[in-house]
Amino acid sequence: MTGLAAEFDKVKTEVLVQYVVSEAELPQALDVLHKFAFHTIATAVLRNYYAVLPDAREEMACDLRVVAERQKTYLFALQTTHNQYLYLGADNDILYIGTYEQGISDVEILRFFGFKNAKHFKDSLPGAFEDLQTLQDDKNVTVCVACGTAEGELHILGCPVEQCPWCDGQFSRCNCRFDHLGVDQIDDIDLLERLEELLEQKGRVAFRKDQSPSFPTAGGDPGPMLPK
Ligand SMILES: [Zn+2]
Ligand SMILES: [Zn+2]
Repeated sequence: MTGLAAEFDKVKTEVLVQYVVSEAELPQALDVLHKFAFHTIATAVLRNYYAVLPDAREEMACDLRVVAERQKTYLFALQTTHNQYLYLGADNDILYIGTYEQGISDVEILRFFGFKNAKHFKDSLPGAFEDLQTLQDDKNVTVCVACGTAEGELHILGCPVEQCPWCDGQFSRCNCRFDHLGVDQIDDIDLLERLEELLEQKGRVAFRKDQSPSFPTAGGDPGPMLPK
């Protein structure tokens, strides 16, 4: 990081806001900042917006909604006075995607959030911005202690808390994955991909808060499942 960028980082977001919005709008703009202060990633998105200003439009950020969320990575929709934008936000990492209307063309981002393609994403959006999900206070959200997945979502593959859909044991420890692949060990990426397919067909068990890493184990301990 250059000296100038480091200096810029120290500038408070409140100060950046003052450069962008009119004096009349300032109280409301600061209210929006404070409303999202509980959420680090949302706060970082607002800061990024005021610091970069997509299309150099000097407008107030009015609202932030969640379009999709997975493993603590958020797809945000930002409403400004006259425009709507999409942002990708994770810890200390904010990416401006484009306008809400354009949607998403990046295949990796689409896949990460479970969208088949750009059209599938667009079709899944509600008719009005106001119908998008509001941001929940993270303190009330239960996440998997091992992989950080939120309740109702799939664990990161290999997470020790994931329950095996075949035997109900601990998926990283039971023998089912070997039995279903017909191999003794999973030592290459093709096998891992085949396993993901089999799991998808069977239906993986999403995280529930009553699951814990101390699952009763079925089968022996065949060692780590991911290839080294
Ligand atoms: Zn997990
Ligand atoms: Zn099993």
